[in-house]
Amino acid sequence: MVQYDCLIIGAGFAGAVCARRLADAGWKVLVLERRDHIGGNAYDCLDEAGVLIHKYGPHIFHTNNKKVFDFLSRFTQWREYQHRVIADIPDGKGGRMGYPVPFNLTSLETAFGEEEGKRLGEKLIAAYGPERKVTILELRQNPDPQISALADYIYEHVFVCYTMKQWGQTPEEIDPNTTARVPVFLSRDDRYFQDTYQGMPLEGYTPIFEKILDHPNITVELGEQAARRFRWGGQMTVGSPDRTKSPIPKLTAPAPNAFLLDGKLFDGPIIFTGAVDELFCYEFGRLPYRTLDFQFETHQKDFYQSHGTVNYTMDEPYTRITEFKRLTGQVKPGVTTVMKEFSKAYTGAEGEIPYYAIISPENNALYGQYAALAAKYPGLHLLGRLAEYKYYNMDAIVARALALADELLGE
Ligand code: FAD
Ligand code: UDP
Repeated sequence: MVQYDCLIIGAGFAGAVCARRLADAGWKVLVLERRDHIGGNAYDCLDEAGVLIHKYGPHIFHTNNKKVFDFLSRFTQWREYQHRVIADIPDGKGGRMGYPVPFNLTSLETAFGEEEGKRLGEKLIAAYGPERKVTILELRQNPDPQISALADYIYEHVFVCYTMKQWGQTPEEIDPNTTARVPVFLSRDDRYFQDTYQGMPLEGYTPIFEKILDHPNITVELGEQAARRFRWGGQMTVGSPDRTKSPIPKLTAPAPNAFLLDGKLFDGPIIFTGAVDELFCYEFGRLPYRTLDFQFETHQKDFYQSHGTVNYTMDEPYTRITEFKRLTGQVKPGVTTVMKEFSKAYTGAEGEIPYYAIISPENNALYGQYAALAAKYPGLHLLGRLAEYKYYNMDAIVARALALADELLGE
């Protein structure tokens, strides 16, 4: 039987990148992935109409981190793509109108007319400086009555309804870093991201994962059966009964501070990239997440909408519609597939996927209990958007995975 130097749970960016870095250094790595495919939430595939879709939500790559870009560029070429998003709102006259999000100087002129929009833009630039990004919460603090009225307009037309749909809470109630991802931008630059490196993998995301994991030192096993090979052995001090239906069953006779592979103690490094509350059988209760329902629609036309993503910031039950062909550049006349995203609370029901950690002091404290428990297992490393309970983009995860692998390699 192969002796593995490292066990990795999950084959998304966190698991795959770590596996490759370690394998390149000569380690033998076993990757266990519960789904029947690699790639985690960045997985893409052709749908029945032959359109390349992102099964778990639209993914656009962007980073300022050259190391991350260079690492991924070993496994893919890039399609030049700059993401642009339009907020689609009622125009108050029975029709619809749209302007760029992040809300910028062009949005101002569309909303208020050229003259008034210019005047307001100049006022904002005088207050904050040109090319500045100002969060909506910061803008709302401005004591100037005209700026504050404008902030209220943007809040009402761009943020409050979308945020309620996405989080079930107002912008003030959620972590301020979340709305800060989409600031008001005192610029004509109408791109969603301003990072140095942006684009879409030329052949899609899944081929990146295939290439990353294609290494003689890496073994990947897929499916529930593979995932069940790994389990928490439990711990002696807490040892409460398993009161939930965790898919990672705790053993009835707990082994002290242990993780088991095929029922035997695995004492090498373990990199866990799944949900940490599930790993520890919900010992301290469930961590809250938001999940999404995706509604795919295929239309018999070349294109469905003007932009890659259109945000519905004032009405409609869904948050946004993404048209994949606009992102991927796939040439496929006469047919296109779009995705509507509906957000809701994650309940842990069969088939639901925890997509977004709900960052708050209370939830962070609960996560801290799990992190402290994890720290009792010297070989265990929590890595990734779920395992670290953070709102990470892909590039941040790649950077963290490279850093963890270097740490394990003593580099
Ligand atoms: P994941 O991709 O979630 O991978 C974790 C893997 O572990 C999964 O495959 C899971 O099945 C597996 N797993 C979990 N538990 C177990 C277990 N017990 N046993 C075996 N396997 C297990 N980022 C961007 O940079 N740009 C974007 O445009 C973007 N758009 C996004 C849109 C949506 C809707 C969402 C939800 C996220 C988006 N992201 C985007 C973030 C991006 O998806 C993440 O940063 C990235 O996927 C995190 O990688 P990961 O490996 O940590 O997690
Ligand atoms: N947001 C909003 N209106 C928009 C776009 C974003 O209110 O048109 C807020 C909302 O709270 C959202 C957050 O900004 O959850 C972050 O948006 P982003 O597009 O980064 O979300 P993601 O793509 O990660 O779901």
